[in-house]
Amino acid sequence: MLARRTGYFVESVIRDMTRLSLKHNAINLAQGFPDFPAPLTLKQAAAAAIMGDYNQYSITWGAKDLRDEISQKAREYNHIEADPESEITMTCGSTEAMMASMLALINEGDEAIIFEPFYENYGPDAAVSGAVPRFVPLNDDNSIDEDALESAFNRKTRVIILNTPNNPCGKVFTKGELKMIADLCVDNDVIAVTDEIYEYILYDNRKHISIASLDDMKDRTITISGFSKTYSVTGWRIGYALAEKNLTSAIRKVHDFLTVGAPAPLQHACVTALRYPGSYYKELASMYDEKRKFLHSALIKAGFKCNMPEGAYYILADIPEGVNMDDMEFAKHMVSEIGVAAVPGSSFYKSEAGKHKLRFTFSKKDETLMEAAERLEKLRI
Ligand code: GLN
Repeated sequence: MLARRTGYFVESVIRDMTRLSLKHNAINLAQGFPDFPAPLTLKQAAAAAIMGDYNQYSITWGAKDLRDEISQKAREYNHIEADPESEITMTCGSTEAMMASMLALINEGDEAIIFEPFYENYGPDAAVSGAVPRFVPLNDDNSIDEDALESAFNRKTRVIILNTPNNPCGKVFTKGELKMIADLCVDNDVIAVTDEIYEYILYDNRKHISIASLDDMKDRTITISGFSKTYSVTGWRIGYALAEKNLTSAIRKVHDFLTVGAPAPLQHACVTALRYPGSYYKELASMYDEKRKFLHSALIKAGFKCNMPEGAYYILADIPEGVNMDDMEFAKHMVSEIGVAAVPGSSFYKSEAGKHKLRFTFSKKDETLMEAAERLEKLRI
């Protein structure tokens, strides 16, 4: 009775864990959203936009004042030239930008290369758009297995999905790696769809590089980002896709009939966000840097093995030795017995590797993280 595509994926485990966490009154380190307030001036701008009657549809592909600001931001920060009239589409979060991009590009049976571990959405994005996912596992140190990547490209490959900084493993792709991927895209006539939602959350002086800024990639990349993570407004659902004008016109058509448009008053408010000074972004990254170090040491103390993430706000940790539960059982045990929610690793892997891992977010208030650390100590007893 139901469409086959609905059988190819399950409901989001990340959001499932949030529900379970609420039920057990646990600390939610599962879903990546801040539990601290959004910037005051941004909230004021949203209230003013509603009171100022920006309450009807914006232009389907986004409010002009916002597209103009994004074009400037893309030039200065990402080194991408994006014409606000023909190369920018505002969407309901980067989640919609990703789905609309896939629907605009994929014909049934086309292949999509996806690095593993991957953000949970990319599997369903492939299933709904009709793409066959081809997973390429990263090495244990998160470097790229070049041979595996090269052999994943074939004549059916239509897109490669990139996510830098990466959710869940915190990898920040280097210029050399992006160049290698770019060369493969050019040689095989493949489009890069790149999710850069954590573009301002990098550590240890790392620099964000957009693959679209590399030679020959501007016209074969869809660059996706949004306001959720950079401005701590995950519930606003304001994202965007930058792409060359023919790609953009296909994305816009899909987007129009999926959602008509992103929330108009919130788009208007986002103009204020884009005018924040450089210090805002420095403070954001250094705030998360402290939280990263705190959670990392709490996890190590509790017996997990994990690397320091290079970017984004998650730690992907190996389940402590001696625990005889898989990731799903252990995640459930953690919520009900320890009072801390995390995401089972298998949400981010096609292979078995995820069964020994949990993902924790540190996008939380210091008090929340301290309470979580205290609870995690129970694991050592
Ligand atoms: N991106 C966040 C995460 O990975 C939130 C996911 C979601 O619920 N959309 O946890």
